[in-house]
Amino acid sequence: MDRSVSSPALHTLQPDAMKLGSFEIEVVSDGTFALDGGAIFGVVPRVVWERYFEPDERNRIRLGLNCLLVRTGRENVLVDTGMGRKWDGRSRDRYALTDETDLLTRLSEKGLAPEDIDVVINTHLHFDHAGTNTIERDGRPVPAFPRARYVVQRGELEHARSPHERDRASYVAEDFEPVAEAGLFDLIEGDAEIVPGIRAIKVSGHNRDLECVRIDSEGETAFVFADLIPTTAHIPPAWVMGFDLYPVETLEQKKRLLPKAISEKWTCVFYHDPRTPLGRLRERDGKIEVEPV
Ligand SMILES: [Zn+2]
Repeated sequence: MDRSVSSPALHTLQPDAMKLGSFEIEVVSDGTFALDGGAIFGVVPRVVWERYFEPDERNRIRLGLNCLLVRTGRENVLVDTGMGRKWDGRSRDRYALTDETDLLTRLSEKGLAPEDIDVVINTHLHFDHAGTNTIERDGRPVPAFPRARYVVQRGELEHARSPHERDRASYVAEDFEPVAEAGLFDLIEGDAEIVPGIRAIKVSGHNRDLECVRIDSEGETAFVFADLIPTTAHIPPAWVMGFDLYPVETLEQKKRLLPKAISEKWTCVFYHDPRTPLGRLRERDGKIEVEPV
């Protein structure tokens, strides 16, 4: 077979990807899950939030797991890894997990084997962001991306290892200890450039060591808000998740970042939004509107 004919041209845009300067970005879903609507909307009353999200009979609302793939031309970078598949029947029922899709299958449909991922950025280590950090092989968890370095805030890994009563349920050791054992963690402290054009921005609020991810190429910017603004419904400053450890800091950070997102026309990534994973923001009559991308 003549490979020069069969191999795809290097500069064709991947089918579901969008250009961001010289990079390509796309959402790669790990499916959906469901959590209690009250916990997702904090002090916002149900009569108000149910206009945006219809709860099921157990008061749960369905949320996205919108991981972001960035192809810089040099590296394949993955931001967050979903819920993963290491869940028993009881947990699958509790979180209403389905088999509609999963991250590794989606990546392979895009021609990417686990070995092709160079960098995994964990915005934090909660189970719904670090689930496919590892997979089960021969009954034990091993790193899912064996060639990747996994970037996370040092403080987040320390906290994940000794959480307090308030957020103990958010961490699963099997998501991060096998990565640590394999020596794949790249622990950073504060803001840091991860690869040229991709920066971690530490933003306290959801917890102490959440990092958002800013991607810049040729004057264009994408920004992964992670759990600072998990869905487009969380754009108003006071719509803060009940899970947040420091809700007033979340509010302040949103007020700091959202004007920049509007004026610099960021492509915003909403990790948990089941309908609008990517959007651009604009202000009209004092309200922020989202235009899906
Ligand atoms: Zn989350």
